[in-house]
Amino acid sequence: MKKILLLEDEAPIARLLQAYLARKRYEVRWDAGEGDLEGLFLSWRPDLVLLDLTLPDQDGMEILKQLRQYGSCPVIIVTARGAVPDRLRGLQEGADDYIPKPFDPEEVVARVQAVLQRSAYMADHETVRLGSLVIDFTACAAYLNEQAVPLIPRDWSVLAFLSVIPINASAASSCWTTYGELTGSIPRRCLPSTGSRKEQEQGA
Ligand code: CA
Repeated sequence: MKKILLLEDEAPIARLLQAYLARKRYEVRWDAGEGDLEGLFLSWRPDLVLLDLTLPDQDGMEILKQLRQYGSCPVIIVTARGAVPDRLRGLQEGADDYIPKPFDPEEVVARVQAVLQRSAYMADHETVRLGSLVIDFTACAAYLNEQAVPLIPRDWSVLAFLSVIPINASAASSCWTTYGELTGSIPRRCLPSTGSRKEQEQGA
């Protein structure tokens, strides 16, 4: 049973998430962020953390940095601070996903499942090849036609996320195109050659 640490100070929200996650057979531990987080994290070793950014004693971003020092446990931010700069900062600080409040609890559960699947895939695979694009999970790097692609942490997170969606030749083209649309940082001429010419012209 996967263990989820829920750092949330609003009891109704915590109870709601606990109920939905328990239905999917996750073991959930709720903490309002007021105690010994380091002790709790290191003794209980969660598989994923759901992190609220506005907690009574600490800023969630500081907690995120702290969690990153303990290891690569996936972190999903769930917060009312849903403005784009906040989301980008969260991803840049190493969050794996970002869900603004108010949320649909079913969506939170789906995102938890997706992040855990991705995390398991990345633990089992050092690299993935999508046509002419190679993604190295160990080095957090990507290579297109054997040339390193410059990536800021946010863009790396997006690319890594897209790359482990079911892999096949047509998905490779789709992955790369979606990545370019989300980050705005990949010129169209860099599309890998895995899709058909027609697909590439159409941006498929
Ligand atoms: Ca809060």
